[in-house]
Amino acid sequence: MTDGTRPDGPLADVPGHSGKHAIVVGGGLAGITAALALADAGVRVTLLEGRPRLGGLAFSFQRDGLTVDNGQHVYLRCCTAYRWFLDRIEGAELAPLQERLDVPVLDVARPEGRRLGRLRRDALPVPLHLGRSLATYPHLSLAERVKLGRAALALKGLDLADPTLDTQDFGSWLTAHGQSARAVEALWDLVGVATLNAVAGDASLGLAAMVFKTGLLSEPGAADIGWARVPLGELHDRMARKALDSAGVRTEVRTRVTSISTDENGRWSVQVPGETLRADAVVLAVPQREAHDLLPAGALDAPERLLEIGTAPILNVHVVYDRKVLGRPFVTAIGTPVQWVFDRTEASGLHEGQYLALSQSAAQDEIDEPVAVLRERYLPELERLLPRARGAEVKDFFVTRERTATFAPSPGVGRLRPGALTKSPGLYLAGAWTATGWPATMESAVRSGVSAADVALGALGRPRPRRLFAFEEAA
Ligand SMILES: Cc1cc2nc3c(=O)[nH]c(=O)nc-3n(C[C@H](O)[C@H](O)[C@H](O)COP(=O)(O)OP(=O)(O)OC[C@H]3O[C@@H](n4cnc5c(N)ncnc54)[C@H](O)[C@@H]3O)c2cc1C
Repeated sequence: MTDGTRPDGPLADVPGHSGKHAIVVGGGLAGITAALALADAGVRVTLLEGRPRLGGLAFSFQRDGLTVDNGQHVYLRCCTAYRWFLDRIEGAELAPLQERLDVPVLDVARPEGRRLGRLRRDALPVPLHLGRSLATYPHLSLAERVKLGRAALALKGLDLADPTLDTQDFGSWLTAHGQSARAVEALWDLVGVATLNAVAGDASLGLAAMVFKTGLLSEPGAADIGWARVPLGELHDRMARKALDSAGVRTEVRTRVTSISTDENGRWSVQVPGETLRADAVVLAVPQREAHDLLPAGALDAPERLLEIGTAPILNVHVVYDRKVLGRPFVTAIGTPVQWVFDRTEASGLHEGQYLALSQSAAQDEIDEPVAVLRERYLPELERLLPRARGAEVKDFFVTRERTATFAPSPGVGRLRPGALTKSPGLYLAGAWTATGWPATMESAVRSGVSAADVALGALGRPRPRRLFAFEEAA
């Protein structure tokens, strides 16, 4: 690194540049967003990332000629901030949305054999858009479907601003609203486990209500699903890096921040091995534990609360077959431990056979299981689910484990999540775990980055760039 110690580096003289310098610590989606937003507003930005790549928890790696994602990621049409991010890095076409929500749900536990149901929407206003699909959903009895409708209406009536929602668990609320164990498995957890990374009984009612109200009960298209047709690293590392470079952000990877402090003039010093960088503002966009360790004394009233935010694991099971065994882009299942299965053949660069990624959320019981045990468990399950897998040869089987994939969305987590502002002027927090109102998602990460940039820009006296906040209008 060269000019890090010089507060008035080369960009200070560029027209439109303020001469202010901000350092963003952490190159996940929150940090990339904050860096882009600040640079777009004319602030000189340095982005520091400890790992050799950008993208944080959503990344890719190479394995035997395949490009593999650490975990399947999806987003919804209602994720307006992440969609803004995709546009901003010119990646939207590489992670398109379904035209209309359509989720194939296979039940493999019926004595008469596998049965396919669909969660689809029609071109009707909310809540009628799901009416036909739910009325004919074969995995629930007629009585369960009627009760489902009633619970959905009760959910719609919940006030997301009511703080007491966060003190209750979603599972108890569902039981109190007549939802059977079957309805929880075949519908509420099917969606909820994948979006919250917890079963209903372990999830805050506030976060669950937010997800279901926003996704299923706001706009008809809100829950249409999008996912990357390329490796995640292509979007979150290569293309993000390109956007950062074009915006004039200086990005340093393999650069771990060891401490941050202010001097008597309120300027910030950021320590990396062998160098001290100085800045007018610092955005700390690292996970909550790292944030806790880096925060200077007095920055938060109760910094120990950050350590009370739990974490939850996600396991991905990767299987390469010698032939095509799944005829759809993805499928989800009930009556089996298999949750969501995605076809990653094309994205990974595989030319022969099919590569499936199983995304297993809330995987507390399995995250440390040996690969051999998982192989014995999942290959027969895939054969039950996908008959064509029965005669197929398994060319490769491996797993990726993310033990701290998300914060645990437990009841009470809301009061532990701080906002972007700290008590130290010029120091801001970002990360999917901060108080965005969203569960730990790419959407939450991007929103947090925007919020941190927004408050930083206010303090630095820079105007909000219009295009940064365009997603708020789309919301
Ligand atoms: C397997 C898996 C599946 C997921 N599925 C989905 C999904 O389907 N949909 C969805 O929306 N979300 C999903 N998520 C969640 C989503 O990936 C995260 O919420 C989001 O990427 C978090 O971004 P972030 O920037 O807040 O944090 P992070 O990605 O954790 O970024 C923080 C960065 O800070 C860096 N850092 C830490 N300490 C330092 C330091 N001292 N100095 C410099 N750098 C440092 C880290 O290396 C990291 O790059 C999934 C996550 C996982 C792991």
